[in-house]
Amino acid sequence: MRTNRSQTLWGLGASRGVSRHPGRAAFTLIELLVVIAIIALLMGILLPSLNRAREQARKIACQSNMRQMGIALKTYLIDSEYRLPPSSCNCKDPNDHWLRILTGYTQEQLLFQCPSDRGKDFVNWEQPLDEQQDARYSSFAVNALLDPIHFRYGVHSNRYNNTDAIRQPMYTIWICEAPDTDSFNLADHIHPEMWEGSIEYAKQSVAWDRHKGTSNYLFADGHVENLKFEQTYDWPGTCYWYPEAAPTWPEVP
Ligand SMILES: [Zn+2]
Ligand SMILES: [Zn+2]
Repeated sequence: MRTNRSQTLWGLGASRGVSRHPGRAAFTLIELLVVIAIIALLMGILLPSLNRAREQARKIACQSNMRQMGIALKTYLIDSEYRLPPSSCNCKDPNDHWLRILTGYTQEQLLFQCPSDRGKDFVNWEQPLDEQQDARYSSFAVNALLDPIHFRYGVHSNRYNNTDAIRQPMYTIWICEAPDTDSFNLADHIHPEMWEGSIEYAKQSVAWDRHKGTSNYLFADGHVENLKFEQTYDWPGTCYWYPEAAPTWPEVP
């Protein structure tokens, strides 16, 4: 009898337990941990590709901005009888600088900012520039060797004031991405002739790593390329920066 009762009791207990949660199995801690681990694994796989996709989108937006600049430049060149627009290197009035000139042909100042540029303070052209010393003109810089007033090989030759000086426009970089360091505040051009073959020194003038180890370059024929810096400047080898010699190095007279 006793044995029977206890069996009945156990039996009752068991049947009660089942009826309280019909058809439902509880998670054990191990199962929960496995689920969390799988979610973490999936995030680990998906997040980098999501970031890659985001950066890819920013790179393409930047290239599109540069292409717009190329179109604006071509329109300007027709108006200027193929005289290239000056930079701030030798020209004092910001309204005569290439950025300001091209803005007139695009109507959009935002085009001059790369979405991957972490610099925040950009010049407000409506305010006086001397009150904005910590600001930047844009995410981009013009190659000063294509500045019409550029001083070359010890003479002010005026030889480079026209697109005729560009031997092969499709190999000559006109605009690159500028670094967001303080030294580039209110700067709009770079000086490749000062690099003297040093890639390390040259890299201080160009945002060579803005798009995951690469950067965008606008060539003088209006096309845009995403390149590693060494693909544009390598000694001995390629040099896309000298209008009279690109894609090779110039012979300095
Ligand atoms: Zn200069
Ligand atoms: Zn960019």
